[in-house]
Amino acid sequence: MPELPEVETTARGLRERVLGHTIVEIGALDWPRMAPNATLELLAESAVGRRIESIARRGKYVVVGLSGDTYLVLHRKMSGNLVLRTVDLPAVPHTHLTVTFDDGWRLDFVDPRKFGRIYLFMGRDALDAFLNERLGPEPLEIARPEFDRRLEQRRGRLKSLLLDQGFLAGIGNLYADEILWEARLHPERSVDSLKPRERGRLLDAIQQVLADAIERRGTSFSDYVDAQGEPGTNQEYLRVYGRAGLPCTRANCGKPIVRRVVAQRGTWLCPTCQTLPR
Ligand SMILES: [Zn+2]
Repeated sequence: MPELPEVETTARGLRERVLGHTIVEIGALDWPRMAPNATLELLAESAVGRRIESIARRGKYVVVGLSGDTYLVLHRKMSGNLVLRTVDLPAVPHTHLTVTFDDGWRLDFVDPRKFGRIYLFMGRDALDAFLNERLGPEPLEIARPEFDRRLEQRRGRLKSLLLDQGFLAGIGNLYADEILWEARLHPERSVDSLKPRERGRLLDAIQQVLADAIERRGTSFSDYVDAQGEPGTNQEYLRVYGRAGLPCTRANCGKPIVRRVVAQRGTWLCPTCQTLPR
């Protein structure tokens, strides 16, 4: 599933290409459940003729700001991709939304598993209410005092905490495992047992792992490609995710990575570097 670094990479790619352009056509909308808060007709009517004024990311959502204080919000869920093509190229199979711009480019939402969603909001307040109801702060923007304050309100295991979009927005299964390896913390560690030094390591790891992955244009482990249709390179740098049986890459470790199920998710860790205190 695309997580914060993949969505950020997509948003940057879209911004380069479509900012300032006007939507001339919305097409291929054939799956009503894609649009939970609008009809497909209303979506098309509301977007055509409007100019793209901003493209932002919040958590795993791409937020497209249109003229007239109108917003389209896209979530790719499991396997959706947002890819730019020129209009002379036909849409590939499983395209469930096309947005055509006035300069001969088109944005295709390709989603074989049909979990992706598109929302329409009229006005900034409606948009903010939707996002803030679902999402905690951005992990790359949070400072230590606020991080500590939020940790103190939480119980449970670290892995579940990192997956909770209401704690921090944008982290999913892959980056949660990479972050916990980097911080040398066990995924089943209880949140309230963290010492101040470990909290600091956790926040540093969150910000480092995500920033590095953005720099590498995301992880293309299965389906993900960026807005230009290109894979990212972060999969070459993974430390634990998908690496069961391979040696831990931390200096002086080299012990095999193991896979467990934590928080109902496949979870990879180094049992030597990430121990549970007695
Ligand atoms: Zn290790």
